[in-house]
Amino acid sequence: MKVFVTGGAGYIGSICVEQLLNKGFEVVVFDNLTEGHRAAIDPRARLIEGDLRERACIASALAEVKPDAVMHFAANALVGESMQDPGKYFYNNVVGGQFLLDGMIAARVKRLVFSSTCATFGQPERVPIDESLPQNPINPYGESKLLFEKILRWYGEIHGLTYVALRYFNAAGASGTYGENHRVETHLIPNILKVALGQKSHVEIFGGDYDTPDGTCIRDYIHILDLAQAHLLALNAPASAFYNLGTGGGTSVKEVIECCRTITGREITVVESPRRPGDPARLIAGSDKIRRELGWAPQYQAIDKIISSAWEWHLAHPNGYGD
Ligand code: UDP
Repeated sequence: MKVFVTGGAGYIGSICVEQLLNKGFEVVVFDNLTEGHRAAIDPRARLIEGDLRERACIASALAEVKPDAVMHFAANALVGESMQDPGKYFYNNVVGGQFLLDGMIAARVKRLVFSSTCATFGQPERVPIDESLPQNPINPYGESKLLFEKILRWYGEIHGLTYVALRYFNAAGASGTYGENHRVETHLIPNILKVALGQKSHVEIFGGDYDTPDGTCIRDYIHILDLAQAHLLALNAPASAFYNLGTGGGTSVKEVIECCRTITGREITVVESPRRPGDPARLIAGSDKIRRELGWAPQYQAIDKIISSAWEWHLAHPNGYGD
């Protein structure tokens, strides 16, 4: 089976590519390398350097490769940036995504696994967040992903596309070979580990006055290998579906920092800062549906396993992918 992976040079995409190859799939990566890294692409995969925003480029790549399925990771994914530049998010994530779908339909590729996000839910009225809750995004990033989910429903109904949208909670950790390296790092765990490595003087805690036991935000961190397992299962899903994907556990910012201190054995200086706009207090996944319907069974749920894997990767790659 041949899988065409958009954004296969990015953090989540690169690790899914590695896992697909380990399972014997043939993989073609389509990436413009603006966010991703050439060195993050498993050498067993073929790279087509291209841009989703160029309709002819993505259409001809799909027509030539004729994959059995597409995994679509390519997107901009920073909440804060989306609040400054919403047009970038709607153009890249929605318009670019639609060019991908049109190219798929023209090339008769009828199966898609899509990287969606819990940000499509906005401020949830309760946790855990299962698929029955209303989706009311509070930033253009979440809105752009929700718009693409809506487009998927119609392409499914009208063009017979079979899709699985996986709404990730907080992806974290590393495989043995590939890990998290954003050119501009905004995520909590890599930012803490940069302090442990001596590359940053301190980590900021964005808000200590939330309505949570220690006052800091609670998130559902999911190991990147468990996330990859869900993608492999989604490739063979019997029917189109939307799934929320997290472990169902919650860890506060302060607990993550404490765990990083224990695992690294290094000093980590923290500075308490104001809240970051758009951060809900608690985001915890209700993932019963994917466990029940696809048999998803996460193997690395404990936060210390997630952080240990990230730390090993950062120790081995102190300068990330070096580009
Ligand atoms: N956070 C923080 N300091 C940082 C980065 C993040 O306190 O340097 C907090 C952030 O406010 C959120 C949590 O850590 O409550 C996880 O943030 P991240 O950006 O990793 O993921 P998000 O939940 O925004 O997808």
